[in-house]
Amino acid sequence: MYEDSYTNRLRKTAVDMGADLFGVADVQNFDDPAYTGNDPRGIMEDARAVIVIGVAVPRGSIESLPKGRAEYTNTLMAGTATIRIIAFRLARLIEKEGYKATIVPTEGSEFGYWYADRETLMAGMSIKYAAYCAGLGNYGANHLLITDEFGPRVRMTAILTDAPLKGPEGPRRPLLNEDCKDCMKCVEACPAAAFTADGEIHRQRCAEYMFQALGGLRCGLCIKVCPK
Ligand code: SF4
Ligand code: SF4
Repeated sequence: MYEDSYTNRLRKTAVDMGADLFGVADVQNFDDPAYTGNDPRGIMEDARAVIVIGVAVPRGSIESLPKGRAEYTNTLMAGTATIRIIAFRLARLIEKEGYKATIVPTEGSEFGYWYADRETLMAGMSIKYAAYCAGLGNYGANHLLITDEFGPRVRMTAILTDAPLKGPEGPRRPLLNEDCKDCMKCVEACPAAAFTADGEIHRQRCAEYMFQALGGLRCGLCIKVCPK
């Protein structure tokens, strides 16, 4: 089938360039009432699919927190640079096939949700939700994607395209990671009380902590304590 072989060619290119995660979500997934974020079709009206690309964040940068915040922040930005280059190559390949593509900013990058809408701190679309629909993981109590192989230690971007790519079919895993209810280490570790055990999130508190208390360095404690 054209869609499958085309998806596999894109996957191979991404993996050959260093991607640790690759997945595709149908844009119709964003019609699910469980999704409360912005619609990717608000960015590209005739989008059909979202390609998610990710790299694993080296463990050493996380284990060194909180002392190694500058190194952690620098390592995250290196991850962002890596996936930008991979995404750019894929976007060009997609356009050579006659379709169009645009690259969604990595959450936490200089064009991510902290900077996109200062009122709501909501991104133009959720890469995490696309990754969930693509079968790459589900949500932890820390509101991050929990992947099977790397837990929450991933950096992701996405490509929005009108190419006829197909995401996985059939039932998905539960939206929330089932092991979180017996853990909640991230809730206890967050110095800004940015989220609660019952699912509330206060994005502004996380942003204020990092941009005011830490002067722009990233915190990452909700990732460090995660046993996944
Ligand atoms: S990065 Fe730090 S401040 Fe932000 S939610 Fe995680 S633990 Fe809390
Ligand atoms: S620290 Fe525990 S509760 Fe938080 S995301 Fe990880 S597994 Fe879930």
